[in-house]
Amino acid sequence: MKIPFNSASLTKKELEYVTEVLRSGKISGNGIFSKKCTEFIQNNFGIKQAFLTTSGTSALEAIALFLDLEPGDEVIMPSFTYPSTANAFLLRGAIPRFCDIRNDTLNLDENLIEALINENTKALVPVHYAGTACEMDTICALTKQYKLALVEDAAHGIGGRYKDRFLGSMGDMSAFSFHETKNIISGEGGALLINDEEMVERAEIIWEKGTNRTKFFRGEIDKYTWVDVGSSFLPSELNAAFLWAQFEHLKESQDRRNFLWKRYNEGLKDIKGLDLPQHPEDIIHNSYIFHVILPNGEMRDGLMKHLKTLGILAVFHYIPLHSFPVGHSLGYREGELPITEDMSKRLLRLPLFHTLKEKEQNEVIKGVRQYMQ
Ligand SMILES: *Cc1c(COP(=O)(O)O)cnc(C)c1O
Repeated sequence: MKIPFNSASLTKKELEYVTEVLRSGKISGNGIFSKKCTEFIQNNFGIKQAFLTTSGTSALEAIALFLDLEPGDEVIMPSFTYPSTANAFLLRGAIPRFCDIRNDTLNLDENLIEALINENTKALVPVHYAGTACEMDTICALTKQYKLALVEDAAHGIGGRYKDRFLGSMGDMSAFSFHETKNIISGEGGALLINDEEMVERAEIIWEKGTNRTKFFRGEIDKYTWVDVGSSFLPSELNAAFLWAQFEHLKESQDRRNFLWKRYNEGLKDIKGLDLPQHPEDIIHNSYIFHVILPNGEMRDGLMKHLKTLGILAVFHYIPLHSFPVGHSLGYREGELPITEDMSKRLLRLPLFHTLKEKEQNEVIKGVRQYMQ
């Protein structure tokens, strides 16, 4: 492909910081770079306590472990998401209850959530699609009223805002992803975000294999013990050093992404029959995805093919979770979530990464125009 869909955007400092870690002789987790990254997340995104994890998936798994879910418990989430959102809770024996989405933001339709809540419901998991916030006022009111845990899957969401609050800072617990395809990357990586002070101590223990070793490292106790269930969720310092280089350049990377996102928007907005991303006035998204919505599935596939012949890779997602074999085994059938199914067939994502050149972007825009004529 002449123009890839994604390319890992580096800042030139990654190698230097990783080398620094190698020279230091201390490469396991929770070292100096991990602390820098953690503090950066806390200071810049309004998070009470952050813990780096080996992936966004593992952050969600730590959250599900924390919630002490039991077989039969239910967790409400969109079907229009990545399997990790559901797997984390399935692993604990809980049942995902899929809620349909809005046809503008492609986020949970806040008006359909309440009908899914029952005595088994334990948590509500909004996914902020493309770094565009879900309707959090309504969602927070529901979790308060029904005493549910609020878990933000903010895998797309770093830096995005709902009114004056950052994505990831509103849930009791939230997850970021630093996978190669996201805005800020460390190869594989993520963060567990805790916003309830009372949850911090236990989260730290679950994160460190069920031990209070972090307390021991801080000198608060004279030996560490096994005190709870847990797992190894922390990444090595090599990943943290890489991530720190990304954080240092966050503003430049984000500005570049916003610039390219707006450029797509300007370049495509007058095309009849092509819907562009929509979001409410009072939210600030993070330009994670630029997608177009075609009038129907055949045209989506047609545009994807046309771009391919021009050497441009455009991709679609998400195939709704409820339409996969695992979704069927949970009792779901096609037709149950009409907006999710419709959007999934008509959506196409255009190449978007920091190092995409304007000349390349022009070719993508031209290719889309050609097809839509
Ligand atoms: C990427 C992603 C995840 C998983 O993150 P990883 O870091 O790849 O494990 C979870 N949820 C959503 C919505 C994602 O896009």
